[in-house]
Amino acid sequence: MFLRLLSDVRWQTASPGWKRSMSSSRRNTTTAATEVHSASLPVRAQVVICGGGIMGTSVAYHLSKLGWKDIVLLEQGRLAAGSTRFCAGIISTARHVSIELKMADYSNKLYEQLEQETGIKTGYVRTGSISLAQTQDRLISLKRIASRLKVMGIPCEIITPKQVAQLHPMINIHDLVGAMHMPEDAVVSSADVSLALANAASRNGVQIHERTSVSHVMIQKGAVAGVETDRGQIECQYFVNCAGQWAYELGLSSEEPISIPLHACEHFYLLTRPLKKPLESSTPTIVDPDGRIYVRSWQGGILSGGFEKNPKPIFTEGRNQLEIQNLHEDWDHFEPLLSALLRRMPGLEALEIMQLVNCPESFTPDMRCIMGESPTVRGYFVLAGMNSAGVSLGGGAGKHLAEWMVNDYPSENVWSLDLKRFGALQSSRTFLRHRVMEVMPLIYDLKVPRWDFQTGRQLRTSPLYDRLDAQGAQWMEKHGFERPKYFVPPGKGKIAFSSSWSTPQYFVHFTDCPESPDSLP
Ligand SMILES: Cc1cc2nc3c(=O)[nH]c(=O)nc-3n(C[C@H](O)[C@H](O)[C@H](O)COP(=O)(O)OP(=O)(O)OC[C@H]3O[C@@H](n4cnc5c(N)ncnc54)[C@H](O)[C@@H]3O)c2cc1C
Repeated sequence: MFLRLLSDVRWQTASPGWKRSMSSSRRNTTTAATEVHSASLPVRAQVVICGGGIMGTSVAYHLSKLGWKDIVLLEQGRLAAGSTRFCAGIISTARHVSIELKMADYSNKLYEQLEQETGIKTGYVRTGSISLAQTQDRLISLKRIASRLKVMGIPCEIITPKQVAQLHPMINIHDLVGAMHMPEDAVVSSADVSLALANAASRNGVQIHERTSVSHVMIQKGAVAGVETDRGQIECQYFVNCAGQWAYELGLSSEEPISIPLHACEHFYLLTRPLKKPLESSTPTIVDPDGRIYVRSWQGGILSGGFEKNPKPIFTEGRNQLEIQNLHEDWDHFEPLLSALLRRMPGLEALEIMQLVNCPESFTPDMRCIMGESPTVRGYFVLAGMNSAGVSLGGGAGKHLAEWMVNDYPSENVWSLDLKRFGALQSSRTFLRHRVMEVMPLIYDLKVPRWDFQTGRQLRTSPLYDRLDAQGAQWMEKHGFERPKYFVPPGKGKIAFSSSWSTPQYFVHFTDCPESPDSLP
């Protein structure tokens, strides 16, 4: 039985490292936070970055490394006090989209050397991670990721349940069919990483102003002309919206509204007291997607969260608060994840809980982050909507956005993450609220072919829709358009979608076709 003892410990007492490095970084950044805040804003700058989370500080760091110096970073509260503050700090390279995988690999390498570069402790520990498979379909998914990782030279290995037990003795392996081990994955203190990036950027000439809120972006002749803040105006040529979950509203507040489709959901994890024999900080992070949970070592105890089936969208109407607070605990909501944790690690039964953390995180309509230049306003760049992978992706995403601004194109193909993939259809709050409820559970769902979103459908149909539907068309959606995927022959029942890598059920109809494999010579 879990006992709940303390509340709000994480921020106040549990992470002295954060406080130490926060104050040290404030000293080290030579005016980065405290002094610069009292300094007046410059009249003009080449670039204004809005948001002092992992994204804004990473963009500032990389722009300054590429030689741009006339940069101002504005943060409405304190640096790293948004979602970055509550992040679980897991750097996971096992991603389904190749460019995200490369970005996570770059982030991992960048964060590893950041402490040496800046002198600020980032809490970087190379723990490795183990992704568990409870089914053969999951194991196939892991093998597919592993083959992609190997091509990119990132070490990983498919292992047996017995090997899982050797790497992490607390894991119950009775229902596992295999796992993927990634020895180079790591954990960090994400707020400290963000402060270290800010520190390095500041040393390279970036001006950082806390307690300065951007109210809107001024636009002239289709290009960024400046920003209006609560402390005055700054003329600028480039504006970078790194406002996290606020990015949507900030986009709409521009003189020419810019659609940045993302929506926040509540995201939970629990923190426990140390185990009797404290868990080593180097214990591998466990990802159990079939149980929908992740678990990492945290100060001798554990930190465990997950992606539930029934997420809770938040801040659907109006502006949300200035600085993110720990939101309400909701134990009923967290219960399925807690049960999954106890099934996976039964030895935790008697462990005392310190806190259930609940912090908003933004999700996008297709579970990929949003980056690039607005298609309608020159010089307006965006990096937001990280789908709970902001720290894993932050280093690489900041690098590519900075390259995009300086060289007109990034060094990797980030086309699949480009803001331009979305249109006005995806910017309605109602669409976003429904869609993100489907996206958040997807993070741990099996990614199999033939799968389609169920929310936000029938936004655009062709004049032939009704006739094709009457002919048995089964529909898929691309950019809001309904398109026939296949037709169910007359007299046959509708085929249920099965979340599996095995032969799709529509193959029974395929054998009736003249071109089917069975009918070929
Ligand atoms: C509970 C939880 C656990 C997570 N765990 C992980 C994990 O283990 N691994 C991982 O990779 N990711 C994780 N994430 C996701 C990660 O924390 C986020 O994706 C990342 O921190 C987002 O960074 P950001 O810079 O985009 O946003 P934020 O950190 O929210 O920063 C945005 C900043 O913009 C500022 N701002 C907004 N509007 C304005 C304005 N008008 N003027 C000035 N400033 C403004 C805000 O004050 C804020 O500081 C987790 C998220 C949560 C909530």
